[in-house]
Amino acid sequence: MAWFRSLVRVAAIETRKASSNPLSTTPTLYSLKHLSTAASNQRRDPQPTPIQYSGLEPTRPDEKPRVVVLGTGWAGCRLMKDIDTKLYDVVCVSPRNHMVFTPLLASTCVGTLEFRSVAESIGRIQPAISREPGSYFCLANCTSMDTNNHLVHCESVTDGPDSLDPWKFKISYDKLVIASGAQPLTFGIQGVKEHAIFLREVYHAQEIRRKLLLNLMLSQVPGISEEEKSRLLHCVVVGGGPTGVEFSGELSDFIIKDVRQRYAHVKDYIKVTLIEANEILSSFDDRLRQYATRQLTKSGVRLVRGIVKDVKAQKLILTDGTEVPYGLLVWSTGVGPSPLVNSLELPKSPGGRIGVDEWLRVPSVQDVFAIGDCSGFVESTGKAVLPALAQVAERQGKYLAQLLNSIGKAEGGKANMANGMDLGKPFVYKHLGSMATIGRYKALVDLRQSKEAKGLSLSGFMSWFIWRSAYLTRVISWRNRFYVAINWLTTLVFGRDISRI
Ligand SMILES: Cc1cc2nc3c(=O)[nH]c(=O)nc-3n(C[C@H](O)[C@H](O)[C@H](O)COP(=O)(O)OP(=O)(O)OC[C@H]3O[C@@H](n4cnc5c(N)ncnc54)[C@H](O)[C@@H]3O)c2cc1C
Repeated sequence: MAWFRSLVRVAAIETRKASSNPLSTTPTLYSLKHLSTAASNQRRDPQPTPIQYSGLEPTRPDEKPRVVVLGTGWAGCRLMKDIDTKLYDVVCVSPRNHMVFTPLLASTCVGTLEFRSVAESIGRIQPAISREPGSYFCLANCTSMDTNNHLVHCESVTDGPDSLDPWKFKISYDKLVIASGAQPLTFGIQGVKEHAIFLREVYHAQEIRRKLLLNLMLSQVPGISEEEKSRLLHCVVVGGGPTGVEFSGELSDFIIKDVRQRYAHVKDYIKVTLIEANEILSSFDDRLRQYATRQLTKSGVRLVRGIVKDVKAQKLILTDGTEVPYGLLVWSTGVGPSPLVNSLELPKSPGGRIGVDEWLRVPSVQDVFAIGDCSGFVESTGKAVLPALAQVAERQGKYLAQLLNSIGKAEGGKANMANGMDLGKPFVYKHLGSMATIGRYKALVDLRQSKEAKGLSLSGFMSWFIWRSAYLTRVISWRNRFYVAINWLTTLVFGRDISRI
């Protein structure tokens, strides 16, 4: 592994005996020889001793300053794309090596798009990460940070004991950008984590697609009871925000166009129910909401106003006692701070995100910035916490890359060298509008800055066309754009791929 070799090259080379205490947190430094020996020993030893590597030391005066970026989402990737790698070395820490184009993720669950069409690897987004001697991608989670000493503590992400046990390491930074996103909200409802599938990552979409196709196939096997068939083919979506509505629309399209033709024996059993505690699409105005409600109902989506109280393996229970049996349960009720964000002793915004000032700096610590869903303005700025949206995250990433580039050009890139520097214009967010598809070639487009403001708001086929065109141009790279266009064309001509691979 190239990063192992490079890591060791920059780390202080000191050999100690591995600690006899497996839970010891004392860092043990290894030479290259020890690194490779330790890794191969681990595979043979049934109970390997957890290993701790030192990681990346502080940059020397003759080296470029190091920007450490936590996360490969909208915010982190946009920052890494625009950062000047002649000024900085970039080290990215994330449990996934790619960015996901989330607005099109729902389409992959039913095969309208393929999974790889909505993902792009970080090495393509910022090639310096794979080429520059001081830049790396680390497949790891940040577990804590020591802002006094400009250090982040990380733990590698492995495939489990069959490959390698995860190990801990540390990275020194000159500038730290926290872009680690948020996590799905479950409101403490029992059984959600165990039985529902969230829709945030490509592997979630894969799980949904496999389960949906499995249920369709099982429901045709002779011997299955009527009751079990109805349960298996009942797809329940909890949460009537844009993600839940878009996924319900995709599902109903799949049922109308593909299930009816290719699973004709069970076409009358498959149903979609969307459960929402309040109004669906509450961020859109009344007219668009009513249009969406009518269209979804016409497409066969059953809209239920209710609050989920408990989730069991094959049914969920609402607060009014109604039991809803399901074969597939997708949970999409918004996001909140992740365990990492909750654990950090940093200033917080209302709602518990990492607090930032107008320049996206975390107040009271040096050289730490936070962007995207994990961050929010501190109360003292007088600004509202921005919504958890890709357009916010992307523009914060772009702004911060420019800010760091100007700091780097003014020789402020090294740790503690930007203190008191004039940072220029603060970050200002201007909402560009919202879009959501609702299935059957229909969508909502609201280009107003708020529900009350004047401006364009459309629904219907024209909006769907705008939605598709907008996302085709916004998709991560030319490679993805090409894949998406081909997938859409293939689906139109041949239908969705229903093989369960
Ligand atoms: C299905 C879906 C559809 C959406 N549609 C839209 C839309 O149409 N329009 C819109 O504006 N917004 C949309 N959003 C919201 C948008 O995707 C998010 O607001 C956006 O992804 C936030 O970007 P981010 O970079 O802050 O976080 P994310 O994109 O969530 O990225 C966070 C990154 O941090 C990594 N990470 C997590 N924990 C750690 C850790 N401990 N250490 C290191 N790295 C870590 C994650 O692996 C990930 O790479 C949608 C979201 C979803 C899920």
